[in-house]
Amino acid sequence: MRLGFHLPVAKGLVAAAEQAARLGTECLQVFAGNPRSWTQRPLEPGVAAAFARACREHDLTPVTVHAPYLINLASPDPEMWRRSVAGLADQLVRAAALGAKAVVVHPGSRGRMPLDWGLERMAAGVGRALELAAGPVQVWLENTAGGGGHLGGTLSQLALLLERLPESATGACLDTAHALAAGYRLAGRGDFRHFLDRVDQILGLGRVGLWHLNDTLHPRGSRRDEHTHLGKGRLGVDFFRELLADARLTGAAGVMETPKDSPWADRRNLALLRRLERQICNLPQRLTP
Ligand SMILES: [Zn+2]
Ligand SMILES: [Zn+2]
Repeated sequence: MRLGFHLPVAKGLVAAAEQAARLGTECLQVFAGNPRSWTQRPLEPGVAAAFARACREHDLTPVTVHAPYLINLASPDPEMWRRSVAGLADQLVRAAALGAKAVVVHPGSRGRMPLDWGLERMAAGVGRALELAAGPVQVWLENTAGGGGHLGGTLSQLALLLERLPESATGACLDTAHALAAGYRLAGRGDFRHFLDRVDQILGLGRVGLWHLNDTLHPRGSRRDEHTHLGKGRLGVDFFRELLADARLTGAAGVMETPKDSPWADRRNLALLRRLERQICNLPQRLTP
């Protein structure tokens, strides 16, 4: 698996690409602006080009942009929906300047509106944003912890959204912590293999552009989204071993969105996955639980 991190851009986008290379990672996710604001500072073309060049030089692929959290493409409020569509289109334009492959976005909340209405609304929003941006960058819909009016808590909801959208411009991003929070059985022996079977049946593995590799502090079905270091949460080390050992994910990309609570945090999380990979390679045959 190609491994990487969501890295902060506080010291600049190019610094994030350099950091990804220093860590020895192979893919990268960033924010292309302020993730908690509607006002986005313009992206300087020189900086964007330097970032794209650095990612190419360090062979970071895929590079993804995570959309700001305020964007809600399923919003029943017309003004909020319009802003969200414009916001996603802006992210797609930024991502294109950065040489990124896709913008990862949460499907959003339909409030108290019916599910079908929410699915139509969200898909229409993504379709409109893709039209406005008219570029090469794809939109990858991320699974969520679900709950309330939030869309994307199940694989079938992601599939219903994706079937309403052009296949060449869209895909899915699967977050392991969100899947557990949404109620999927993952932490037991053999669970991940079954989960991946369902992913393949419901979405098709070819539609999954990216994995978010996160552990979580809260139990299965909690609907709570709080990432923690790999192996230190409810998923545990064995879960990540099963994931890395599954031959269907050999060429896939996995980005960690783990806490940066110490200067060594990223190195430790990466070292765990590399150690598991080495253990798997040393087994007489690939581990299939
Ligand atoms: Zn996310
Ligand atoms: Zn995620």
